[in-house]
Amino acid sequence: MPADDLPLADRLARQIDAGGPISVAHFMAEANAHYYTSRDPLGAAGDFITAPEISQMFGELVGLWLADIWMRSGHKANPLYVELGPGRGTLAADALRAMQMAALAPKVHFVETSETLRDRQKANVPHAVWHDDLDTLPLGGPILAVANEFFDALPVRQMVATPKGWRERVVIRARNGQPGCFEPMAGFRPMDSAVPPSLRHAPEGAILESSPASATIAYALALRIAKQGGAAIIIDYGYEGPALGDTLQAVRGHKAANPFAGPGESDLTAHVDFTTLGNMARQAGLRVFGPVGQGGWLKALGIDARAAMLAQSAPERAEEIESARSRLTAEDQMGTLFKAMALVHPDWASAEGFNE
Ligand code: SAH
Repeated sequence: MPADDLPLADRLARQIDAGGPISVAHFMAEANAHYYTSRDPLGAAGDFITAPEISQMFGELVGLWLADIWMRSGHKANPLYVELGPGRGTLAADALRAMQMAALAPKVHFVETSETLRDRQKANVPHAVWHDDLDTLPLGGPILAVANEFFDALPVRQMVATPKGWRERVVIRARNGQPGCFEPMAGFRPMDSAVPPSLRHAPEGAILESSPASATIAYALALRIAKQGGAAIIIDYGYEGPALGDTLQAVRGHKAANPFAGPGESDLTAHVDFTTLGNMARQAGLRVFGPVGQGGWLKALGIDARAAMLAQSAPERAEEIESARSRLTAEDQMGTLFKAMALVHPDWASAEGFNE
């Protein structure tokens, strides 16, 4: 069988046999590339659910936030709506509808690598234009960008503290010989110089993550906004780094799974380091707002009033609307762990919803 047709686990096993251990980042990148092209993972029948799939209110408020900052920054001509990893296109459809109410009708550009999800997106937003990465976005009008649960799907590398110092965490075949199973171990190459001095003396087994892929994309996006004008709203679950911790996790059928078993069959994510994303934007000359909790941000934008209005016009759905509102905002649900951060062109207005 040609190597391309082999199941992903066999291909990774062959790579390891031939070339030695692979990095966690390489493993995660290969696993997610396969995962997202081979299925639509969203929704009750899939593996996980995201904010725009919980309620139309989420996409609508994102759209209103973009329309608001665009209007207060002088209605610049030819705006582009740019979404990274749009999933089913639900957020975009809801956001574009809300923007339309504010007389904003941007051209739509999606950055999406999965052919399967591009098909789903086309059904919801037929006039979108698709891109493999940010490089091919048109030059010209200002960029109104959205990334919801996008950066968490990008690969992280992991460093692990050993008695001999910091090492890159690498992936080998599982030593129990189970087919399709892998396991992490400390690699041999010293990595101490890649660890911030404040964290260098961490206890044995401590893990430090970084996501060069996320930093690269955040920087590319920020450079475009610096050049063309505009703003971006990034929403994800994450933290303000640098911080220790192994956040790599796998979800399958709405349950936690072993991230190193069955690569490409479960959704791999890692928490997003908002500090790094913000620093990339600052380096490109942008202003950064947040991160603040998703719950506080949505409340500042008026989710409570929007929910009350929806419930009034559809009383039979009142319970469902209230449960969605609470799921998106409650502290013990998505309200705090999920965070919002805005990147804004220096000449544009301040971002709404960030004075917690
Ligand atoms: N934003 C959507 C989907 C989140 S899932 C929502 O909130 O429902 C992650 C999305 O990012 C999927 O659309 C996936 O195909 C896409 N994706 C993952 N890695 C990507 C990459 N490197 N480049 C572009 N899109 C990617």
